[in-house]
Amino acid sequence: MELRNCPRCGSLFAYTGRNLCAACLAQEEKEYDALRAFLKDNPRASLEETSEATGVKPERILKFLREGRIVAAQEAPWLECERCGKPIVAGRFCPECAKKLRQELHLEGPGDRPDRSDQDRMHVADLIKKGKS
Ligand SMILES: [Zn+2]
Ligand SMILES: [Zn+2]
Repeated sequence: MELRNCPRCGSLFAYTGRNLCAACLAQEEKEYDALRAFLKDNPRASLEETSEATGVKPERILKFLREGRIVAAQEAPWLECERCGKPIVAGRFCPECAKKLRQELHLEGPGDRPDRSDQDRMHVADLIKKGKS
């Protein structure tokens, strides 16, 4: 059994794959349920309104968003892309930056990227051509 300090409340707990103590885990599930229920009825609420209505701190709400557990309304993005600062509804990067990062990280050939369109492939081919000349 591995003992860890809970990153949220600092107390010692037995690590079971979730990096939170049982009390914080239960609290987090409660916050998550409250957020989900509120956003279902109020998909266009602002971050402040959501925080007030659910009692969940804005930074906790943003953490849920970054983890992709909840998604803000398309019309009212609460997050910014960590790369270009563009408003995004969930995760850490906007779709364009996510794509660029994937291209930078995955240097292996095409084929294992089923989500890519022909347009992307041509674009990459152009870049390779330019790099060589
Ligand atoms: Zn804790
Ligand atoms: Zn971006």
